[in-house]
Amino acid sequence: MDIRSFNPPVRTLMGPGPSDVHPRILEALARPTIGHLDPQFVAMMEEVKSLLQYAFQTDNALTMPVSAPGSAGMESCFVNLVEPGDKVIVCQNGVFGGRMQENVERCGGSAVMVQDDWGKPVDPQKLEDALNANPDARIVAFVQAETSTGAESDTKTLVGLAHKHDCLTIVDAVTALGGTPVKVDVWGVDAIYSGTQKCLSCTPGISPVSFNERAQQKIRNRTGKVQSWFLDLNLVMGYWGGGAKRAYHHTAPVNALYALHEALVMLREEGLENAWKRHQRNHLALKAGLEAMGLSFIVPQGARLPQLNAVSIPEGVDDALVRGRLLTEYNLEIGAGLGALAGKVWRIGLMGHSSRAENILLCVGALEAVLSEMGAEINTGIALGAVQRALSA
Ligand SMILES: *Cc1c(COP(=O)(O)O)cnc(C)c1O
Repeated sequence: MDIRSFNPPVRTLMGPGPSDVHPRILEALARPTIGHLDPQFVAMMEEVKSLLQYAFQTDNALTMPVSAPGSAGMESCFVNLVEPGDKVIVCQNGVFGGRMQENVERCGGSAVMVQDDWGKPVDPQKLEDALNANPDARIVAFVQAETSTGAESDTKTLVGLAHKHDCLTIVDAVTALGGTPVKVDVWGVDAIYSGTQKCLSCTPGISPVSFNERAQQKIRNRTGKVQSWFLDLNLVMGYWGGGAKRAYHHTAPVNALYALHEALVMLREEGLENAWKRHQRNHLALKAGLEAMGLSFIVPQGARLPQLNAVSIPEGVDDALVRGRLLTEYNLEIGAGLGALAGKVWRIGLMGHSSRAENILLCVGALEAVLSEMGAEINTGIALGAVQRALSA
């Protein structure tokens, strides 16, 4: 077998993540590896923590990157906060709420599920009803930006309801962070996790998390040990907690953290609010093009995530064939539907560095070319003009 160096093709990534990684971040990854306890590395870790506080809009001291992907950030919140016997209300409106249920049950807790249709935001009234019906619930968990459907839920309102009933909150902000407002302190979110490969446009594999004082208190007052050694925050903080004495816990992914540092520096250079505005503006341009073609969004207006656009696949069109042709002929990746929406929708991501005008024009142009060649019933010849008008509006 003749195996040589792997040279990936250059793609445009417009799926549910990873998103396009800026060359500045790829370059940061290739810098020399140094020791994970090297004083220069430790100084950089402190900068990563404060840059993450900016991204999350929080002063929480316990704000740091978990050395594993978004799913590990999720586990980190659940294994530390959920004790055996705890009742947790999980609001589900897509794939990721289902994973929260799995987490609760594997921690020995019991999950009370509040279900909403896929494509709809979490209904605050249903949460309130569940809180009234379950006065012994300790925690409320939900996904702000449901990447499986493109729906955004109202974190501020949901957290407010949970607190009225004396519950802590766990919020999934994997796709939200950097693309749409996430205000941990103003909204009072107790525990939150994200990922690097969505709107932060970094390489996959790291999960930023943040815990407030109330959440830390619940962790300190646990009666039993956290069942995961690796994710036990009491131990992780020995390494990430700062101070002069840093203890070895695990070897930090040194180069991956250079990349995250660079991604966060870029976010701060642009400014969070400007990043939110850019995502919104580009969403409107993509929407103009897709709707001109005759495609329709599955999420009601007002709850659409600018960074994840789910549109119905036109009648009679072969989902996998279209995505395959976009990939091989245009080097363009868009996302398939997940779970209940498999085969029914495409998920077009405009996350982080992927959210730019040239990508929208490529995607709309390529989709129109492929669909019209396949004889799909779409409007032709007007979509790119609609994108251009929206971009210059
Ligand atoms: C991508 C994603 C995750 C999981 O992140 P990984 O890095 O793939 O482990 C969790 N929640 C949401 C909402 C996501 O979009």
